[in-house]
Amino acid sequence: MIPARYGASRFPGKLMQDLAGKPVIVRTYEAAKATNLFDEVYVVTDSEVIFQEIEANGGKAIMSQKEHDCGSDRIAEAVENMDIDIVVNVQGDEPFTSREGLEKVLAVFNEPDADKIDLASLMTEIHDWKEINDPNTVKVIVDKDNFALYFSRSPIPYPRDKNVEIQYYKHKGIYAFRKQAIMDFYRLPMRSLEAVEKIECIRYLEYGKNIKMAVSNTTGVEIDTPEDLVRANKLLKESKPDAVNNKFRNFPMVPKVVFGEGCFDQLTSILSSHKKEKAPFIFLVDDVFEKNTEFLDRINLRFNDKLIFISAEEEPKTSQVDDLVKDIKAEFTYAPSGIIGIGGGTVMDLAKAVSIMLINKGSAADYQGWDLVKQKAVYHVGIPTISGTGAEVSRTTVLTGPVRKLGINSDFTPFDQVILDPDLTIGVPKNQWFYTGMDCFIHCVESLNGTFLNAFSQSYGEKAYDLCLEIFLGDSLSEEESRAKLMMASWHGGMSIAYSQVGVAHAMSYGLGYVLGTKHGVGNCIVFQHLEEFYPKDVALFKKMVEKHNIEIPQGICKNLSREQMETMITVALGMVPLWENALGSNWEAIITPEKLKELYLRM
Ligand code: NAD
Ligand code: ZN
Repeated sequence: MIPARYGASRFPGKLMQDLAGKPVIVRTYEAAKATNLFDEVYVVTDSEVIFQEIEANGGKAIMSQKEHDCGSDRIAEAVENMDIDIVVNVQGDEPFTSREGLEKVLAVFNEPDADKIDLASLMTEIHDWKEINDPNTVKVIVDKDNFALYFSRSPIPYPRDKNVEIQYYKHKGIYAFRKQAIMDFYRLPMRSLEAVEKIECIRYLEYGKNIKMAVSNTTGVEIDTPEDLVRANKLLKESKPDAVNNKFRNFPMVPKVVFGEGCFDQLTSILSSHKKEKAPFIFLVDDVFEKNTEFLDRINLRFNDKLIFISAEEEPKTSQVDDLVKDIKAEFTYAPSGIIGIGGGTVMDLAKAVSIMLINKGSAADYQGWDLVKQKAVYHVGIPTISGTGAEVSRTTVLTGPVRKLGINSDFTPFDQVILDPDLTIGVPKNQWFYTGMDCFIHCVESLNGTFLNAFSQSYGEKAYDLCLEIFLGDSLSEEESRAKLMMASWHGGMSIAYSQVGVAHAMSYGLGYVLGTKHGVGNCIVFQHLEEFYPKDVALFKKMVEKHNIEIPQGICKNLSREQMETMITVALGMVPLWENALGSNWEAIITPEKLKELYLRM
């Protein structure tokens, strides 16, 4: 529900002001709808003008019958006779409302303490003292479980002791209410704290309700003043706010890489120049090597260096990253000299994420998305022991978080050093060799057939694609050549998507991974064999490779999904907007509907 009052006191008529060709309220409505998180989206308004504008743009609007002091009373009236669980209040003046924030505010209702929550809302870290002091910015303080203690236009807490480190939070006017909570409060009289601060949510505190706050650090622009509107217009004109698919990308590449059979033994000398006094190197090593003493002896632990075995049984999780970081911080006083990941994509991604989270505050889940990492990571080294994902070269680390499966994609994610030793891949079991190798093949197919393709991506993609055909369909390579070439195919495949994007198979594979825990490589294979419609030539080649190597691809894995599981799977897949845009163009939503996805999943 988007409550929309025409006569805002600070900036009258603001919701009907023009924002890059459409009124602010229409932009907000479209943004809320585009999140795909809601069964229905409505604007609730006292204004005929707003009502008609929304309807004219194909949206749904409700006229409030009564006078209301605040947005939630307006919503309460509108939902009184509707059959709903949770209603979310999206402010009309937040045209850049993002899926990320709304997802977080909804996610709290799945946490263990959910039954204590009457309503949930969002807060954002703020650092600039001017903003902290600005009465237009509502600050919030919370208890240890993130329940709100108070909201104020004053800086809270007051920083009497300047030496105490304190994080200030700004409140974002997005709420998710249980229906009962909003009805309980309907027309309760305003009390003095709310009246004097002019902050609506204080009323809930004054009546003793529990407001759970979720942290969301994506910044939007609220339209509170005419200056905000100028800024927002500029933002929309200069760049799309979610400039993921921007035409020009300025991305870092791995600055140092060593290649060749046996080059793993360079590790000790490479690390020696990065050793900081008293600060250990932490080695994250795939536990498949746990009993392989010959290999472990080559790692050469020094001083207080630490080796942690990692199971690649499950896809890496944000909570796993948080736990690793907590343990490392608890054990060592000094930030590590470096993190060295030795393993497959799973360990590569964990090593990247841990190195970021040793420096950046909060949970890894806070950084899932594009360019949310603010501080440089600890020095980190990637040493792949299986080829295909391109995780050794990419700018992302794919993690399963509490609300989504998404990468931490940032300039600080790529490794500072990579060691490519094809001999390390000698022990990889055949099926796994194929699944992970196909990840590379599918990266190339999706990049080369995507709408984002340019010569940069194409030159890497074509090379990797040809290498894959040589390795998986040819007969002329020795095992040794094949290992070396697959390692380079993985690298080039990763580079190819750096300037483009993956596509249909990955979007759908993410859905499988999120709901069923299906691993990335095999998940891609399960999906890809059914995508003739999108990639006809390459699906045919893929089937030949499966046959040639006598590989088993699991079948029928979506047969017994519950309705809810299927819906989640579809929502997760549809949420991968840049992937669909790459695969099918900006009009992708007309082609890939939830029904279409369901039909495809049911075939798998
Ligand atoms: P993996 O890391 O999950 O490993 C698969 C299996 O191979 C594990 O059982 C592992 O123990 C075993 N293994 C690895 N090396 C071995 C060796 N030398 N000998 C014997 N067994 C060995 O597999 P993966 O396919 O490399 O990685 C998948 C992960 O990579 C997923 O989590 C996926 O999300 C991620 N990924 C990341 C990116 C990125 O750009 N960051 C890209 C693609 C995939
Ligand atoms: Zn992949």
